Amino acid sequence: MRTLIKDGTVVTATDTVSADVWIDGDTVVGVCHPSLRKTFAAEREIDATGKLVLPGGVDVHTHLDMPFMGTSSRDDFQTGTIAAAHGGTTCLVDFAIQGRGQSLRAGLDAWHAKAEGKAAIDYGFHMIMADVNPQSLAEMKTLAAEGVTSYKLFTAYPGALYSDDGQILRAMQQAAELGALVSLHAENGIAINVLIEQAVARGEVAPRFHAATRPEISEAEATHRALCLAEIAGAPVYIVHLTASRALEQIVAFRDRGLSVYAETCPQYLFCCTDDIAKPDFEGAKYVCSPPMRPKAMQADLWRGLRTGHVQVVATDHCPFDFKGQKDMGREVFTKIPNGMPAIETRLHLLWDGGVREGRITPSRFVDIVATAPAKLFGLYPKKGTVAVGSDADLVVWDPERKQSLRARDLHMRVDYSPYEGRTTQGAPTHVLSRGNVIVENGKFLGKAGAGRYLRRAAFRAL
Ligand SMILES: [Zn+2]
Repeated sequence: MRTLIKDGTVVTATDTVSADVWIDGDTVVGVCHPSLRKTFAAEREIDATGKLVLPGGVDVHTHLDMPFMGTSSRDDFQTGTIAAAHGGTTCLVDFAIQGRGQSLRAGLDAWHAKAEGKAAIDYGFHMIMADVNPQSLAEMKTLAAEGVTSYKLFTAYPGALYSDDGQILRAMQQAAELGALVSLHAENGIAINVLIEQAVARGEVAPRFHAATRPEISEAEATHRALCLAEIAGAPVYIVHLTASRALEQIVAFRDRGLSVYAETCPQYLFCCTDDIAKPDFEGAKYVCSPPMRPKAMQADLWRGLRTGHVQVVATDHCPFDFKGQKDMGREVFTKIPNGMPAIETRLHLLWDGGVREGRITPSRFVDIVATAPAKLFGLYPKKGTVAVGSDADLVVWDPERKQSLRARDLHMRVDYSPYEGRTTQGAPTHVLSRGNVIVENGKFLGKAGAGRYLRRAAFRAL
């Protein structure tokens, strides 16, 4: 089937042009001047007058169907990918987890089983290495050949996902060898555990102490350490969910020395802050995630990083837990509140409304941050992340005037609250296409669970 998206303005990370987009089957076959319309025929036309045509969002940080802190993130690969599609995201990279004492293979197979037959958009997997040892290091080679070209390690969560410096260095050396990218959750988990123990002993058990016990310096220190280890290994490194101004200073310093260092932040760190986690009546639990909420003043630094290119990506760290039945496991003490927030559906809305409309970033920078840069860094470009001849027809027709309520009941994520309850954003998709198929039209889901395909990702290439 041939589809024509006509009279729109195509926005990529580099260009803004008035052009038709022609799709044949699942591929973009033309970004053309309207005068060429008489040359071809289309079976289906989408009128994009007054609208923008963007590449579908690429979310490289999601946790669907993830067991954590004695429970599981609420969205699975069906509900989560459908919610993503409603928000204009057409591709995601989720985190498969190696259990301690387990092989990488067992972890990856488990995540394939979670996604198969359920995902409504295309997906890939990063591998979380919770047990770096000679076997798992050797296994990285097999997995990289299957398109798992990124690995995540943690300096946080001692006794669970934590790796020590030697383990991180070895994984980075192996990744460099294989053309893979190591990403880090950078917080000093050992120091944080001491602060948590002391806070709880003092009776400081409310949600806001989750933030107080994970100070900015613990993120800055672990970020610095991760960047040093990457320099020693001669490997590129990607810091996930960067939140702290002083951690950003580390990124800037290493990048200015020419090192292959990248950083991601998330909408919750651009739009929420320590005022939210301090809300009374346990409401603050809705904002418990790690790294934690930071003082509002730090948001300006993150926006500056996005503008200058020191921060390349906004991904979601989508990991929703219900307020009733999950978050409230921690009513007595914040250490039992599952860490994570819903975000997969609202990323583009928030970034457009709070970023482009507020004049903080240009439309092209928006496209780069939410689609192009993540696709490039994680081996998905140019199939994903841009509008170009030969790319997958993962496209969003974006109406800059369309309003979207961010109330929980107006969204599609399987979670009983919204961190942005009461907020309405401007700028939203009218059509979302996945490989040429319209999967969302004016707020109605037309796709199919199970239609999403596993993506074998290419080796890392520097941005
Ligand atoms: Zn995460």
